[in-house]
Amino acid sequence: MTEEKKSLNFIEQIIEKDLETGKFDGRVHTRFPPEPNGFLHIGHAKSICLNFGIATQYAGKTNLRFDDTNPSKEEQRYVDAIREDIQWLGFEWNEDVLFASDYFNNLYDYAVRLIKLGKAYIDDSTAEEIAASKGTPTVPGKESPFRNRSVEENLDLFERMKKGEFDEGAKVLRVKIDMAHPNMHMRDPVVYRIKKAHHHRTGDDWNIYPMYDFAHGYSDSIEGITHSLCTLEFEVHRPLYDWLIDALDLYHPQQIEFARLNLNYTIMSKRKLLQLVQEGVVNGWDDPRMPTISGMRRRGYTPESIRNFATGVGIAKRENIIDISRLEHSVRQHLNKITPRVMAVLNPLRLVITNYPEGKTEELSLINNPEMPEEGERVLPFSRDLYIEREDFMEDPPKKFFRLGPGRTVRLKGAYIITCDGMVKDDDGNVIELRCTYYPDSKSGEDTSGIKAKGVLHWVSIDHAKDVEVRLYDRLFNDEAPDGHKDKSFMDFLNPDSLKIITAKAEPSLLNAKPGDKFQFMRKGYFCADLDSTSENPIFNRTVTLRDGWAKARKK
Ligand code: ATP
Ligand code: MG
Repeated sequence: MTEEKKSLNFIEQIIEKDLETGKFDGRVHTRFPPEPNGFLHIGHAKSICLNFGIATQYAGKTNLRFDDTNPSKEEQRYVDAIREDIQWLGFEWNEDVLFASDYFNNLYDYAVRLIKLGKAYIDDSTAEEIAASKGTPTVPGKESPFRNRSVEENLDLFERMKKGEFDEGAKVLRVKIDMAHPNMHMRDPVVYRIKKAHHHRTGDDWNIYPMYDFAHGYSDSIEGITHSLCTLEFEVHRPLYDWLIDALDLYHPQQIEFARLNLNYTIMSKRKLLQLVQEGVVNGWDDPRMPTISGMRRRGYTPESIRNFATGVGIAKRENIIDISRLEHSVRQHLNKITPRVMAVLNPLRLVITNYPEGKTEELSLINNPEMPEEGERVLPFSRDLYIEREDFMEDPPKKFFRLGPGRTVRLKGAYIITCDGMVKDDDGNVIELRCTYYPDSKSGEDTSGIKAKGVLHWVSIDHAKDVEVRLYDRLFNDEAPDGHKDKSFMDFLNPDSLKIITAKAEPSLLNAKPGDKFQFMRKGYFCADLDSTSENPIFNRTVTLRDGWAKARKK
């Protein structure tokens, strides 16, 4: 084995072997098959990166196919959102978007063929009767009294089901496999049911709809998918997909299962995410606290950081839980490279430089991004009255507090060194203003003062500062496994501090930000102009803090 081969994951190993043996004539054709019943989440991103990544790696193709077999739950707006998210993540699907509903005619024909082969039958039993006769993994099931209907009768009934002659629940189509099979999915599963629902694409054409398990494997087969990559829970369904395909002697894709992405401090079930939306816990599917792709986009995550995370966690055969700080780390890593540094004061305290001329404004030049010198510099106004962060001052600071206190000296970022020599208090004894002196010969870049200042503080000039709304987002849950508690709901673990809205004082350049623009607010974190942000009403979402503030809590 070469070095390169050793690092292949198990799916790549299977594909390379298939390419060697010519199993699929050298083709690699994957698909991503979302059900349009919600927005995509970070777990889907892993599957997307895998399916599209594999195809790119082996010069293959990836279909985007909506598994829209369940008419009552699916919505066009989910279809649109899913397309947008995949494109935003940076992937292109093969040709047109596909839908399982495109194959409703094929699937109906397959069902008729199975009936003709004596491999499927119409069952008049109720859902309860069918469930009760299934048996348990250790107790064989009972055969339905309708199991041995004639082919003619089955064909007739199936056609009349299609025409809408029977009520919902009156009849189902089941495949005839083995009621004593050790795999419960093989005990004559239901493959078609009557549903008089409106379908988002086929309208009222159909009164019967195929079950997911029936539609899924056949759709892969119809599309000529080579490697059908899916999560581990489908491993037990594979024998059924194989049986259905072999019963009709159709083209046979190979299904390969991998472990789904599990993240702590998060929930990923679409049903539960929908509940958060419906109950108004969050402001929609794209709320920046949601683990959805659109929420992460709005919060300021980049496609690169999500892709790096998704590929970095690797492909495994066994379930594991990934620490969410890995995702946040990936976001920081990318934002550190690409974001301009700006100054905004989130919790302002007034600071007056008493020996600086009143009414004077200096235009200081600051580097936009030390990681990207080509991004140039910007001009920032400096004056006698400034805001600094309230936390950057202590009346009685400990020795290691390299910020301001009475008699303490610091540098103002990109500007001058100052010493604090006084403070003003209100009637309650709260400090409301600092008095400082500056050293004219300590200007950044041309400092000849010889004065040492350990700390560097960010600041804004009061006369020039702009008010901006800042939404301080934090994790939505304060428990590592919000839906892993027996007697409690995930709703019991909502973080009450997941959103705080404040007004910050920002340097004037931030008024030019367009929705989606990303910044590092120096010493405060990464922020992104919200979708609704305008220059009249600027809004910035905190994407992530500069450091992992949760690490300490976890160690306790
Ligand atoms: P949910 O359980 O959240 O409703 P789902 O699996 O029903 O999700 P689908 O729309 O059917 O959602 O998923 C589309 C594809 O994404 C499937 O192939 C599925 O296996 C994959 N997928 C879903 N969740 C994850 C995850 N957490 N990690 C990796 N792949 C996932
Ligand atoms: Mg599903």
